[in-house]
Amino acid sequence: MDLSVEVPNPLVDVSNGRFMGKKDLGDGYTRWDWRIHYPINSYNVSLNIGTYEHFGEKMGDLTLDYWVLPENMAKARAQFVQTKPMLEAFEHYFGEYPFPKDGFKLIEVPYSGMEHQSAVTYGNRFANGYLERDWTGVGISTKFDFIIIHESGHEWFGNAVSAADVSDMWIQEGWTTYLECLYVERLFGAADGLKYTNAYKTKIQNRTPIITERGLHRTPPQDMYFKGALFLHTLRGVVNHDAVWRKLIRDFYQANKYRNIMTEDVVGFFNARLKRDLTPVFNQYLRRTALPTLELDFATTPGSVRYRWKADETGFNMPVKAGRADAWQVLTPTTKWKTMATPLAKDDFLVATDLYYVLVDKR
Ligand SMILES: [Zn+2]
Repeated sequence: MDLSVEVPNPLVDVSNGRFMGKKDLGDGYTRWDWRIHYPINSYNVSLNIGTYEHFGEKMGDLTLDYWVLPENMAKARAQFVQTKPMLEAFEHYFGEYPFPKDGFKLIEVPYSGMEHQSAVTYGNRFANGYLERDWTGVGISTKFDFIIIHESGHEWFGNAVSAADVSDMWIQEGWTTYLECLYVERLFGAADGLKYTNAYKTKIQNRTPIITERGLHRTPPQDMYFKGALFLHTLRGVVNHDAVWRKLIRDFYQANKYRNIMTEDVVGFFNARLKRDLTPVFNQYLRRTALPTLELDFATTPGSVRYRWKADETGFNMPVKAGRADAWQVLTPTTKWKTMATPLAKDDFLVATDLYYVLVDKR
């Protein structure tokens, strides 16, 4: 896409892609020309017009350009040092920044921010957290600038890998929220990663499925962000092998970048790579409202526990770690009762609920 924007002198237009030049039109206006070298979603096309000033840096060959109002230059220079470690974290997990010919930009705007491709807009008050709040409420959001990390994460999921229909927007928002969790894990450690991820549970409503009806252009509920991320976190628990999980999500990204895909493509890729049918698990979390509940019955036979999943998907058979926290056992419940011997009493029999987004019902 070529984008040319005529603005009154001395305003500046900062748009997506690479700056190709500007031309004084002699009538008080100047034309700013930008070239986008990659496929781009229409909602990502952005005109940002103001009395911008510029500073920049490089990360290897990648240009990082920052456009802010003159009065905010000092604040921006201090806050935008978070850009490189953020890009390095996402490159670590998924591979090279997707739009190197266009470079990466942060552009100041009067709203909180938006993931415009290669022209991420920023209005988070040059402060950590989200609009100066502890976004997830557990003391971790204050360690980084939510808008820099979330909106830039969309360069990988949303902009490079895009949902083909708005019904499947969890591919944009669920994945990018999960990228925040990976960023926290990478920069602040596994314990903070787990804490940050699980804190999102309090924001989930579970009122309607996060995939809406296809073809209606009906925006999914906000659960697509947080439940989407918790679902991916749950899948990591199912895979139960960090190296396998890391390679899986990286390969999934690499196989689908610069493409528009549907949830079926995600399910197909994961099923093929893991050589197991996770379709009922995807369906329960994405196409159903209720969370799966692990029912544990200690009352029927002493010295044993009966267990099953209560779920809408009859084939729901997700493995789950349970028993003692220092020696988890992997149970493979189905929606039919199974029985196992256990020396643990009801109150001592735990479920690793920080690794999965599930409910537990003990009786
Ligand atoms: Zn987003």
